[in-house]
Amino acid sequence: MRLSRREFIGVAGAASLGGAASLQAQGDSADLVLYNGSVVTVDDAFSIRQAIVIKDGRILAVGGNELRNRYPGARAIDLRGRMVIPGFHDTHIHLGGHSRRYIDLNDTTSLAQLKQQVSEKAKELGPGEWITGAGWDEYHFKEQRKPLRSDLDAAAPNNPVVLTRAGAHSSVGNTKALELADINKATPDPERGLIEKGADGEPNGVIRERSDLYTRLVPRDKPQEVRDSLLQNVRDQLKLGITSVIEAGSSVDPNVVGSYAEWELLYSKYGDTLPRASLQVGYPSPAGSAAAGAAKLKEFGKKTGDGNERLRVGSIGEMAADGGFTGPTAWSLVDYKGLPGFRGRAFFTPEQIHANIEEGHKLGWQFGIHAIGDAAIAMTVDALDKVLHDYPRNDHRHYLCHFTVLPPERTMQLMVKDKILIAQQPNFTYNLEGRYVETLEGKRLATNNALATPIKRGIFMAFGSDNLPIGPMVGLYAAVTRKGESGKVYGPGEAVSIKEAITMYTRNGAFLTREEKIKGSLEVGKLADMIVLPEDLLTVSPNKILNMKVDMTIVGGKVLYERA
Ligand SMILES: [Zn+2]
Repeated sequence: MRLSRREFIGVAGAASLGGAASLQAQGDSADLVLYNGSVVTVDDAFSIRQAIVIKDGRILAVGGNELRNRYPGARAIDLRGRMVIPGFHDTHIHLGGHSRRYIDLNDTTSLAQLKQQVSEKAKELGPGEWITGAGWDEYHFKEQRKPLRSDLDAAAPNNPVVLTRAGAHSSVGNTKALELADINKATPDPERGLIEKGADGEPNGVIRERSDLYTRLVPRDKPQEVRDSLLQNVRDQLKLGITSVIEAGSSVDPNVVGSYAEWELLYSKYGDTLPRASLQVGYPSPAGSAAAGAAKLKEFGKKTGDGNERLRVGSIGEMAADGGFTGPTAWSLVDYKGLPGFRGRAFFTPEQIHANIEEGHKLGWQFGIHAIGDAAIAMTVDALDKVLHDYPRNDHRHYLCHFTVLPPERTMQLMVKDKILIAQQPNFTYNLEGRYVETLEGKRLATNNALATPIKRGIFMAFGSDNLPIGPMVGLYAAVTRKGESGKVYGPGEAVSIKEAITMYTRNGAFLTREEKIKGSLEVGKLADMIVLPEDLLTVSPNKILNMKVDMTIVGGKVLYERA
């Protein structure tokens, strides 16, 4: 049942006045009652209740423990004091999908282990087959250095190998992969990328920002294999308490892995067992003709907001203004630490990015543009500002993804004026600490992935993780402590309160996808998407947040995950 806007506001208003509110017209039957807990509604007043009642996938009532007896026919769960909050909404995540040739390196803790994984995969696939993988991070390795082509040659001399770093801004290949890519000593740096060379002048296997020089040679994944792993990746979010995601890597092109069409197929079969999803699609032909891209958008036939409560079209994303500090290729206004003259670079000219935004905006699309360095952020905001000046549109909700280096004050003021929002990843301060220490210094290091400053200026922010398999607890922890993995605190003034952090990881995500009227807080009439936590986030010591596990995840009133 869908409430009209007028009914919804009326009922929600009554709920936030206190006491129990319910839709009398529905009588006293319900499907599920959670009681005897701390139900943190994240409504306007951040009110906390004891019980919540669910019927037909939506919230029927929120109030005191007396609700339990009012719905005797409903399944009742005694929370025994545990906490309930709205489900997390991850506003920037890459759930992709992988075939058999792929190795997950997120939990790899040494180069020796990485080599072992590669050689086992080579045995499994046989000689000649491409081996791919992602998630390695030299700061997690005992040896404290990047894998190089010589490491991969030793592990798999007879297979081309390409392994992408966590953060996806660089990849390492072996000699076979370099040969197939026709990259040698004499090869100049590609546009928007960098081929690392060793002391001998030979490529060491690492290519920054242009992993595609390798990956375009890898045979296309078999759709069925990829579908299974996509399904698994999406489902895996439930145990992290994620009930909604913005997938950052989809496409309007149905022939591409991870396309909107593939997700539609997935959701038509399994939609009611998965988190809800909004798909960011890439701007078609981002560096080519903006008009040609617009033609492909029209051909797609859908735009931002189309779809349903389970799966919908999100913004145009993946149109990265620059790279990232994992490359490192973020585009900076000042030199990188220890690299005089090196400031990274933009992926587009200001004219290109402006033309793409203008075309998509005119067609009614929302944009969510990747911008990490301060130079990239300033350029993107200038482009958005010009488009909004030339083609004003109320409530456009264009946003930036990432916002790692605080841009000049002028840029933040433009963002306030133009209502440009941010999808921020508070966990980056924690899990990318090593990269930031290496590339940034002074105030720029302390304010990496700033939270409090943009919020104080009046810029709207929602949270996400970007890096799998990092869940919301890492983000909440880093948002309130500003601690890196080493335990060192970066810019304590950028911390936010746990209430603010929860709000940005739940309700504010729903605003980013224009669904704030149907989800994001636990109010009567909204979708019953919520999680049960073993301890109270509002009162536990922040150190306990980092490893807190989710007890139960409910989407649309159905318990889709329960911790053993
Ligand atoms: Zn991303």
